[in-house]
Amino acid sequence: AKAAGKNRFLRFHPDMMTALVQRTDMESALQLAVPRGQISVDFQPIVSHRMGQVVKFEALARWDRGGERIPPSIFIPLAERTGLINEIGAEVMALGMVQLAGWLSEDPSRSLSVNVSGVQLQDPDFAQGVLHLAEASGVAAYQLVLEVTESVFFDADCSLIKQLSSLRDAGARVALDDFGTGYSSLGRLQDLPVDTVKIDKSFVSMVRTGEERLPILSSMINMAHSLGLTVTAEGVETAAQADYLTALECDSLQGYLFSLPEPGERLDHALRRAEEA
Ligand code: C2E
Ligand code: CA
Ligand code: CA
Ligand code: CA
Repeated sequence: AKAAGKNRFLRFHPDMMTALVQRTDMESALQLAVPRGQISVDFQPIVSHRMGQVVKFEALARWDRGGERIPPSIFIPLAERTGLINEIGAEVMALGMVQLAGWLSEDPSRSLSVNVSGVQLQDPDFAQGVLHLAEASGVAAYQLVLEVTESVFFDADCSLIKQLSSLRDAGARVALDDFGTGYSSLGRLQDLPVDTVKIDKSFVSMVRTGEERLPILSSMINMAHSLGLTVTAEGVETAAQADYLTALECDSLQGYLFSLPEPGERLDHALRRAEEA
């Protein structure tokens, strides 16, 4: 009885109450974000080093809560906990495909990379939904990349593997996001249904002068290549990092050095200016 009393006291502590109110407040606002049209997508170019040009774009969700921008690091985890990620993820996918379809009329080699959370992959109709949307948007499956983190494979059931497999069978590609941050990465890589690894920016930031020896970076890239995977480095901020990674034969680079994530129409202008230059 004493323990229960203590618990009850803890549950109604004023600070906790405030936190709870703020959370449910944020949660109910997030519930209305899609219907109110507050979710938008920024796009960040991914530069292919072999072709020296932009062909791929990562879609990144943005939430404008009536003039206040809530960062994805806050609202994505909340959306995952509450299941709202299904609706938000579908909105990001739809907005992303509209933009990609527009780009494709100018440059058919372009493709779109979309972040997908493990929660979305639990939906047995996920793959079918993505493929239908692509077809309706005039986008081919091979023009799509789905980015998943290693954690989705952590307690992977066969339905999740089935979703990813049917997308890959249809021609879409799967990228392993934040590669290197999960502890079993290198060993399990050959068992995962992925086509690309995205080296986490924490590894890229180890390159400071470009003169250092970083065997961990070269091992990650060599290992991925030996398994037939392509490698993208994310969070590339300096020319030294870009040169270093290119020397290690990293296939694509992404980061503030090339572009911030931007709304599609603003990116169009920047790319056109770059082409004219
Ligand atoms: P992520 O998928 O690893 O995305 C890369 C993050 O790094 C983005 O942050 C991007 O803006 C940022 N970034 C890009 N270049 C640089 C750079 O050169 N330096 C540094 N320091 N950062 C860079 P953002 O947009 O805040 O997104 C954070 C995370 O939120 C994403 O990490 C992803 O895990 C999640 N997220 C964003 N949009 C979605 C979405 O539509 N669905 C899901 N499931 N997750 C999303
Ligand atoms: Ca990503
Ligand atoms: Ca990442
Ligand atoms: Ca991340």
